[in-house]
Amino acid sequence: MRAKPLINLVFLGDVDHGKSTLIGRLLYDLGRVGESTIARLRSLASQVKDESYYLAYIIDCQLEERRRGHTIEVASWEPVEMGRNAIRIIDVPGMGEWINNTITGIAQADAAVVVVDAHDVAARGLEQLAELREHLILAFAFGIEQLVMAVNKMDLVGYDMGVYELVRAGLLELVKSVGYGDVEGVPFIPISALRGDNVVERSEHMPWYSGPTLYEALGGLREPPRPVDKPLRLPIHRHFQGGNIAVGVVETGVISRGDTIVVVPAGATGKVMSMEAWGRRIERAWPGDDVGVRIRGVARYHIKRGFVISHPETAPKAVRSFIGRVRVLGQRGLWPGFCPVVHCHQARAPCRVKAIIRKLDPRTEDVLEEEPDFLAKGEMGDVLLEPLVPKQRGLVIERYGEFPSLGRFALRAGAGRKRGSITVAAGICIDIEPYE
Ligand code: GDP
Repeated sequence: MRAKPLINLVFLGDVDHGKSTLIGRLLYDLGRVGESTIARLRSLASQVKDESYYLAYIIDCQLEERRRGHTIEVASWEPVEMGRNAIRIIDVPGMGEWINNTITGIAQADAAVVVVDAHDVAARGLEQLAELREHLILAFAFGIEQLVMAVNKMDLVGYDMGVYELVRAGLLELVKSVGYGDVEGVPFIPISALRGDNVVERSEHMPWYSGPTLYEALGGLREPPRPVDKPLRLPIHRHFQGGNIAVGVVETGVISRGDTIVVVPAGATGKVMSMEAWGRRIERAWPGDDVGVRIRGVARYHIKRGFVISHPETAPKAVRSFIGRVRVLGQRGLWPGFCPVVHCHQARAPCRVKAIIRKLDPRTEDVLEEEPDFLAKGEMGDVLLEPLVPKQRGLVIERYGEFPSLGRFALRAGAGRKRGSITVAAGICIDIEPYE
């Protein structure tokens, strides 16, 4: 099927902590970017912003992003060989205002590199990193099991071991607090993305560090199970205006050229005319593959982010309601009548909490109370949720036991004008009531 295990890898962390620079550094040091491109980007960066952004420009392609100096869209790169893996890098925005894009990137990923600016943390503490915490909560909610922590900008703290240890201790607590139980094996790598320390080349400046470089750690990631034998589920991430091309990552099953497909919830059937990955025509795509699918017979307005491509005989249905087993993360709690936004694979939709069915013990999942009228922060329960969208634009969500990647979700809601929105609860779908 594939020559090497494929890992979809997302880079997370607060804005300006160096995500784009690190991706640029990896690609540059692995010989993926030529010297002439680097020279051009250096000069472009110094004209538009400042020269130190030249590595970030490798992946931040949009002019708006270059001018502002941070990522807005989700960008990804053709899989790059690292050790035994082929790694597809996904860059998402760090800024809270683009969180919807961040979530769609996280939902595609198998593993995450978390980039933290050691200099900033040493100066201001971890508490002010609101986005980092939110990213970790979402990574956990969307089932990202493998994390690699990159303690960046070590050059700005004199490559000091004490600072590294301090940042590491704080991060460990943070990672545990969002739900990651087993943090023993998580690598914490002191790096400088800008100077190239411990990214691909081992640094001479940190003899006190004997762990893997980032490149080595990424080469050691494990590919998650790829459910080839299940029915096709390809959630649409974006579409191209020029034609009926839907882009997304295959979650389960196989899609081939010539297949008759259906787009749910639109219910429109069509035919796969051709498929493309990284500028090359392909005949077939498997779970984990990021593909562009040219479809004939489906109107353009039926090809939308969050809709799911499938085969007609085994297609999912949009849901009238679903039951989620959630853990409450927000201060305000959950109650019947509350209307957050549900995020699930590439989809999002406003929804209403119709009822709280039961409260559960978060450790044992034993029933503590039937039909409580409130779930407080830290509590767990089964809630009945009703998407507030018309059937034709309805939400496709699946039972976690059948399609894990389409059965995980997060509920988000506003947290006051200054803070934007936050994740108020996250969980898995345990039952659905589909539309007939
Ligand atoms: P992002 O918003 O997380 O993608 O951050 P960027 O990659 O755009 O980097 C933000 C700024 O931090 C830029 O000026 C980078 O040159 C700088 N930067 C990134 N990594 C390092 C590093 O390792 N050392 C230093 N000194 N600066 C860095």
